Amino acid sequence: MVDQATVVQKYFPNLAEDQYSRLAALVPLYKALNQKVNVISRKDIDNLTIRHVLHSLAIGAFYNFKAGTTIIDIGTGGGFPGIPLAIIFPDIQFTLIDGTGKKIRVATEVIEQIGLDNCKAIHQRAEYCTETYNYVVARAVTRLAGLVKLAFPLIHNKSTNALPNGLITLKGGTLTDEIAEVSKSHYIEEHALEKKFQEEYFKTKQLIYVQK
Ligand code: SAH
Repeated sequence: MVDQATVVQKYFPNLAEDQYSRLAALVPLYKALNQKVNVISRKDIDNLTIRHVLHSLAIGAFYNFKAGTTIIDIGTGGGFPGIPLAIIFPDIQFTLIDGTGKKIRVATEVIEQIGLDNCKAIHQRAEYCTETYNYVVARAVTRLAGLVKLAFPLIHNKSTNALPNGLITLKGGTLTDEIAEVSKSHYIEEHALEKKFQEEYFKTKQLIYVQK
């Protein structure tokens, strides 16, 4: 069993006590909620800290954001990567959306139980969103080209961070073809998560940034 506090602190040593305790509280909370609605696979639920919490936080290991930045997590499922990110970035406003109502109910329950006031979850498909944000984040939603199409209408052009507004996505597997499709027309940054995270799980995982 992974020691939650130790593994999160190893990579994020400068968080406040209440941030560590909120991240730790996610484990029993999701375990309980997942009994009713399956938002996390059986295999992953026993590795929740690494595969969901730490994987979501990987975005924060590569990029930092100024207070007031707005981020929408599309296809958030039960709240990943949005909820762990909202815990470590309390001055950033997070909107979490998913087209599946029962998953959004899980995310809403977690937000309420943790008492996260910089994060709201909405049952909506990305195609129907009308507001715009600095960044879209997404994990495991669809192919990169499809994601760019869904994400870009939701991103405005007023950048406030060193990193221009865009899409930040967490993906696994071989992405050469997916990236080639998009890189002809867009500026892309690729980061192998194994550069920062030593656990086996991260060996095949990447973070992709696509500038708007
Ligand atoms: N990001 C979560 C869930 C991934 S599963 C995680 O990593 O755990 C993919 C999710 O995307 C599903 O819950 C599905 O309902 C949602 N989804 C797919 N297309 C969508 C769209 N166009 N708008 C909103 N949600 C979408």
